[in-house]
Amino acid sequence: MHPPVNRRLFLSAGSSALAGALFAGEDNADDGRTPVVPLGIPVHLEPLAFDFEALEPHLDAATLRLHYAHHSEHQAQFAAALRQVHLVVGNVSTLMAGITTVLEPADPTTSVIQLGKKPGPLPPDIQHAIRMHGGAHVNHTIFWRFLAPRGTGPAGPEGRVAQAIQAEFGSIEAFKSAFTDAALRHFGSGWAWLVYRPDGRLVITTTANEDNPLMKDFVDWRGQGRPILALDLWEHAYYGRYKNDRRAYIAAWWNVVNWSFLSRAYAIVTSGRA
Ligand code: MN
Repeated sequence: MHPPVNRRLFLSAGSSALAGALFAGEDNADDGRTPVVPLGIPVHLEPLAFDFEALEPHLDAATLRLHYAHHSEHQAQFAAALRQVHLVVGNVSTLMAGITTVLEPADPTTSVIQLGKKPGPLPPDIQHAIRMHGGAHVNHTIFWRFLAPRGTGPAGPEGRVAQAIQAEFGSIEAFKSAFTDAALRHFGSGWAWLVYRPDGRLVITTTANEDNPLMKDFVDWRGQGRPILALDLWEHAYYGRYKNDRRAYIAAWWNVVNWSFLSRAYAIVTSGRA
């Protein structure tokens, strides 16, 4: 018999607060009045906030369709792994922080609970599934959130996050250039990130495979923190239109970055909320 499941915890993953953070309000300018809504990663697959065709010609519909299906497969395998060990996860971000050992949750609405178990290490095959499929689920969920059809929002960073980027990198153009260089230099599959670190610094980093900056067990401290921008560097993200030309893909991607969402993400991470 499986232990009884706390239904409230399941529901918290799909809370209206989360949906609100994703879809509510077009006025996302970070002018100090931006609503700071907790922004977790649910276990379920979020619908895209745009049509597959909406990012043409920069990101093509056929690639996007396949890519979203690919994410869906990872999500299903991730959810199956959680079920296998009776893990209930409100916010997958909190699980990323400690894959090798599930700790006693401080906040049961956002943390991880393994039903009927004392805190402790997970079986190696489950750790692997969480790292690979859970990582892929988190990374793609973040990637989609930071995309928007060109012309539907600001053309670059605005407000407080723009100031922070200028302070850290010298200018917006210097930031974009450094991010592009890091993404080009990254060898093989992986991800490029803009990370808000616990020390308040903004850093550009890349991770291999499906690792991400939330994974304290696997990522160097210099690259650990809250991602506030993500770029998929796997060839499956661009091969359909750009073949091996990662540079052309990155140049195209800048045209469909959701800068409103960057302001929102920055407001959330600097508020210290999840
Ligand atoms: Mn991908």
